[in-house]
Amino acid sequence: MRRLLLTILLVLSLSCLALSLILLLIGLTGTHVPERPAFLVFVGGIGVFMASIFVMRSLQDSFTQREIRKQPWAIALRGAPSWVLKALKFWGWCASIAYLAFLLLPKSRRDAAFLPFVAPLYVSVFSALSAAIMYSALHIPNELKCPNGHPITPLQKFCPECGVPTAAAAISE
Ligand SMILES: [Zn+2]
Repeated sequence: MRRLLLTILLVLSLSCLALSLILLLIGLTGTHVPERPAFLVFVGGIGVFMASIFVMRSLQDSFTQREIRKQPWAIALRGAPSWVLKALKFWGWCASIAYLAFLLLPKSRRDAAFLPFVAPLYVSVFSALSAAIMYSALHIPNELKCPNGHPITPLQKFCPECGVPTAAAAISE
C-alpha cells in the first residue's frame, strides 16, 4: 500500500516536472502561456510537494534532531543516487538567482513575467524535489527496529541492545 502510494506520487511529481519544464520552454520562446493549464500545473506541483513533506518527515524518523538540522536533504534523499542532490541544489540556485532578477524588474514587467517564467520555474524545483523524495523513499531498504527503536536484523529474535523480543520471536512462537 505504501509502495503503491509512493509510486503514484512519484509519477505525479515527474508529470508536474515535465509539464512545468514544457511551460517554461513555451514561455522562453515568447509564446503566450495558456493560463488554465499553467494554473493546474502550479496547483499540482504544490500538492505533490505538500505530500512529499510528510514522506520526508518519515524518512528522517530514525535520525536525531541534530543530524537532521545538519543535513536534512542528504538524509531524506539517501535512497537516491548522489547526483540527484547535486542536480537539485544546482537547479535550486538557478531558480533563486532567477527570482532575485525577477524582483529587480519594474512592477509592470514583473506581472507579465510571473506566469510564463517564475511560476513554472518554481513548480519545476518543487516537483523535482518531490520526485527525488518519493524515489528515495522507494529505494531505502526497510530499517527494522525493536519496540524500543534499536536497529535489528530480520532474523534476530531478541534485540541485541535491550533484549526485548522482536517480531521474529513472535512469529517463531
Ligand atoms: Zn532494543
